[in-house]
Amino acid sequence: CGIVGYIGKKDTQAVLIEGLKKLEYRGYDSAGIAVFTNQGLQIAKAQGRLANLESKLEGTPLVGSAGIGHTRWATHGKPSDVNSHPHTDNSHKFSVVHNGIVENYLELKDELISQGHHFVSETDTEVISHLIAREYDGDIVKAVQKAIGYMRGAFALGVLTEYEPDKLVAVRQASPLIIGIGEGENFIGSDIPAILQYTRKVYILNDGEMAVLTQDSVELMTIEGNFISREMIHVDWDA
Ligand code: GLU
Repeated sequence: CGIVGYIGKKDTQAVLIEGLKKLEYRGYDSAGIAVFTNQGLQIAKAQGRLANLESKLEGTPLVGSAGIGHTRWATHGKPSDVNSHPHTDNSHKFSVVHNGIVENYLELKDELISQGHHFVSETDTEVISHLIAREYDGDIVKAVQKAIGYMRGAFALGVLTEYEPDKLVAVRQASPLIIGIGEGENFIGSDIPAILQYTRKVYILNDGEMAVLTQDSVELMTIEGNFISREMIHVDWDA
């Protein structure tokens, strides 16, 4: 699948849709976006090609300052509107896009159900949003780190929470993810072409690393929380 994410002052929905167009080759059984609007975190998703999502958004665009988007290549749960990403939790305060597979999602799902969580999709991904919601204690970075601690498998993640609308959290564990650096804006993407029309400055995440983006900063750390520094790559080719 493909992941894209944006935090900044541009038209967030447009940046996400343009990024997803570049990523559609990675999977196209559905597409979706989540954006912070002035009514909170709002999600739009649709089975089928990206064009289906675009026509759903026509007339009711999602306007906001941060967002995440996804094109899906279904591994767990058939292609459908409800199985499309982004996924959320029962409070609808958290939103997750995921590339990869959570191998132990069934046992995690059983545990979460026994703790009172209700699931709406058949995906492995939905357990991630519920885990993050369960672990959240005022710090989205710590909640994501704790959630990952319970998960086995391959994942690249983009995470937003309504509680901390100035942050976009990204994780890479055996699925690709890059960070794009802008002026007063920052990006995440499954690959460089997804963001190349907006910036040529890129950090490549390694497995076991994560990033916390605001409009004006990017912090890189291991998933254990140790800060790291990374040389910025200047991309001089065109997609
Ligand atoms: N395993 C997830 C799903 O089936 C993510 C698939 C993907 O990488 O697109 O929803």
